[in-house]
Amino acid sequence: MENNLEKILINLIEKKSITPNDDGCQEYIKNQLLDYNFLYENLNFENVKNSWLRKGEKEPLLVFAGHTDVVPPGNLKEWKTDPFKPEIIDNILYGRGASDMKSSIAAMISASQRFIKDNPDHNGSIGFLLTSDEEGPAKFGTKKVIEKLKKDNININYCLVGEPTSSKKFGDTIKNGRRGSISGLLKLYGIQGHIAYPELAKNPIHYSGILIEKLIKHKWDNGNKYFPATSFQISSIMSDSVATNMIPASVTIKFNLRFSNELNENKIKNSFEKIISNIDCKYKINWDCSANPFITNEGKLTEILQKVIKNTVNQNAALSTSGGTSDARFISQHANETIEFGPLNTSAHKVDENINIEDLYNLENIYYGVLCELLL
Ligand SMILES: [Zn+2]
Repeated sequence: MENNLEKILINLIEKKSITPNDDGCQEYIKNQLLDYNFLYENLNFENVKNSWLRKGEKEPLLVFAGHTDVVPPGNLKEWKTDPFKPEIIDNILYGRGASDMKSSIAAMISASQRFIKDNPDHNGSIGFLLTSDEEGPAKFGTKKVIEKLKKDNININYCLVGEPTSSKKFGDTIKNGRRGSISGLLKLYGIQGHIAYPELAKNPIHYSGILIEKLIKHKWDNGNKYFPATSFQISSIMSDSVATNMIPASVTIKFNLRFSNELNENKIKNSFEKIISNIDCKYKINWDCSANPFITNEGKLTEILQKVIKNTVNQNAALSTSGGTSDARFISQHANETIEFGPLNTSAHKVDENINIEDLYNLENIYYGVLCELLL
């Protein structure tokens, strides 16, 4: 007979909650928590399932946040197990979401149940903020829930997001912020012509080479204590489909910058305009800034989490802002302190996604420890 924590995790992984489908995960979580005096609020927007649960009315409010959706399994033949039928082999549990991030959600539920059972009259309140759209466009998930909580004057003192943040050893990394992300779609225009008469045409691909070199060599910033230097990366270059004896009229370049809090959208656009103004080509650019960088206040939650991790797994957890974006970017605009901590991310989004059972139990103990430190 498996233990409560494993049972919750297995139940969650069995649900095929591929973005934005929740497939009953949040209904299951709700039922797990209603017996422990949580109040439930359904905050669905469009086709996205969101849940807000809270036990207690007083502050401080500690919120556990996470997403119930997972990325698709990819090629099923490459998996050693069925991604939606979790199996434990040699003390490792395999299944989609085992790392990102159903294990964290199971650990948060189990830790809260245990904490409330042990301390029914604890201080403050415990909240759960759940969405089924983190891996997708993320427009109607956490972002909308935070808008609603703001409107209802619900103050979040501490928020712990369960993204898989550990990078080499479980417990080695806490995310205390994230980089921003901005994408550009650039169309550079030349003059179409016969490839044998280049003097009568203007090859936009050749000009794009000069531009790209300038963009790559440009020092966007130096980063700072918490952020690595901003990086510029091209994801695709495409020209008009023309015959082999033709110079195309235009070339389209897609690029992205992951940027530190030394920069913002406008500073990036201005630097870009300055660089491209030295290239003798007409152009059109569309920008899409999907995330602004953020850094959380270094406060009590960070300090406590580091202490509890040290006591549980003897790791000195480093603070980091590396990796992609997460819903913490929305929560941090409202909560006093938002940090992310969860299992190893080495198998996230891959085939054979997994978690070591020992890490799973340590994660639950760490979340339990944070509850004790903050609410007793
Ligand atoms: Zn995730």
